[in-house]
Amino acid sequence: MLEKQTMTDGALVLFSGGQDSTTCLAWALDRFPRVETVGFDYGQRHRVELDCRPELRRGLADLNPSWAARLGDDHTISLDALGKISDTALTTDMAIELGKNGLPNTFVPGRNIIFLTFAAALAYRRGLRNIIGGMCETDFSGYPDCRDDTIKALQVALNLGMQQRFVLHTPLMWIDKAATWRLAFDLGGQALVDLVVEQTHTCYMGERGQRHDWGYGCGVCPACKLRAQGFAQFQQQGEMKAVAH
Ligand code: ZN
Repeated sequence: MLEKQTMTDGALVLFSGGQDSTTCLAWALDRFPRVETVGFDYGQRHRVELDCRPELRRGLADLNPSWAARLGDDHTISLDALGKISDTALTTDMAIELGKNGLPNTFVPGRNIIFLTFAAALAYRRGLRNIIGGMCETDFSGYPDCRDDTIKALQVALNLGMQQRFVLHTPLMWIDKAATWRLAFDLGGQALVDLVVEQTHTCYMGERGQRHDWGYGCGVCPACKLRAQGFAQFQQQGEMKAVAH
C-alpha cells in the first residue's frame, strides 16, 4: 500500500503575480499557518507578471508581521510543453478576439486543470493540504476550466489519484472584480490595494508603460478593461459608503 504523506494545515497558492492571485495569497496568509507559492512559466506573452512575483511577496510580508512569519518557499514550474501545444494569442503574436465557440482566443485549453494537477503534486511533496487558486466563474471570459464544477470534479480526481484529502479553495469563484478589490481592502487595507495597483500585472499584452489609477497596462485589452471597470466600481462603492456615514 502507498505510504501516506503526512499533511499539515499549510497551503499552496497558485501565484502568477496578477491581481487575482495576489488577493488569493493575502487571503491564504490571513488563514493558514504556512503558505507557499507556485508560479508557472509556459512562455505566455504576459510573462512580465512572473517578474512581479518576488516584489509582491516582499510587499505582502512588509504589510503584516504575521503574514511575514507564515510566508514560506516560492516555487516556479516550467511548462514549456503547454506553450507549444497552445497556439493562442497568449503565446503567439495574434490579436485577441472571440472565437467561434464564444471563447476568447486567449484560452489555453485545460490550462487550469494542468496547473492544479502540478500544484497538487507539489503540495503532496511539501505536505500542504490546502491548494488555493484565483479561478472565477463570474469572470467575463467564461473559461470552462475556471468553473466551480470543474474545480470540484478535479478535487475528487486528485484526492482519488493521489490518495489524499486536498482541499481546493477558490475564494474569488462567485465575486466580480469590484468585490476582488474590496476583498483586498478588507484583508490588508488601503496599503494592500496600493500594492496591488503598483505591483500586480494583469494586461494580456504584457504592457507596463502607462500608469492608470488602477495600475499598469495597455488599457484596451479585455483584462485591462475588466480590471479598470472593477476598480472604478470599487471606488464608487467606497465613496457611497463614505457619504452614508
Ligand atoms: Zn492590457
